[in-house]
Amino acid sequence: MNQQGKLIIFSAPSGSGKTTIVKRLLQSFPQFEFSISATSRQPRGEERNGIDYFFLSQEEFRRLIDQNAFVEWEEVYNGTCYGTLRSEMERIWAKGNVIIFDVDVMGGINLKRIFGQSACSIFIKAPSVEALRERLIGRGTDSMETIEKRIAKAEFELSKAPEFDFTVVNDSLDVAVEQTEQIIRNFLAE
Ligand code: ADP
Ligand code: 5GP
Repeated sequence: MNQQGKLIIFSAPSGSGKTTIVKRLLQSFPQFEFSISATSRQPRGEERNGIDYFFLSQEEFRRLIDQNAFVEWEEVYNGTCYGTLRSEMERIWAKGNVIIFDVDVMGGINLKRIFGQSACSIFIKAPSVEALRERLIGRGTDSMETIEKRIAKAEFELSKAPEFDFTVVNDSLDVAVEQTEQIIRNFLAE
């Protein structure tokens, strides 16, 4: 299996179940490691600095942009930035591990453009926008205002699905995880 220098990118409208799927994959594939992004948003729920994200102030985030520390970064929501740190990718590859990304749709498209055949990009989709809303409400981590912002962005994000290598519909979680694992096994065997 040739996994040297490979990366797997997950993107999806918020609430589609991308984080849930990525967590399951990290349990099944010990050679996978999650690329911890930097963000200028506040931690929510049980999130911890240096595990889920590197939580930075707007000023710290700006400084890293100026230092060219990001492979890619996006202002995903008004005033809230997220970015992939070069140092994080180097750290994971130095161990010989495969990098897993959970990035927004534009970040996913950019990473695929940068890394080409070394990258497998997977778009995760909820079965409907209504299901997306229900999941965001059920997750219980965001205000109604934030949820509506995320839903409003979903239509644009869904229009970008064809730019990904694969799309997986996350209706039954077990089925979605199985399909994703199969896609990844094929990619790693290439
Ligand atoms: P994302 O990372 O795409 O924003 P999450 O993984 O946080 O999404 O999932 C959003 C919510 O939906 C969570 O509460 C999660 O437990 C739930 N969820 C994930 N997959 C499914 C599924 N297949 N069916 C129903 N609920 C799901
Ligand atoms: P959340 O606030 O729900 O954790 O994430 C919001 C969005 O930001 C998600 O779509 C997530 O994938 C995206 N995101 C997280 N890290 C990065 C990153 O490093 N770069 C980009 N472009 N998007 C990211």
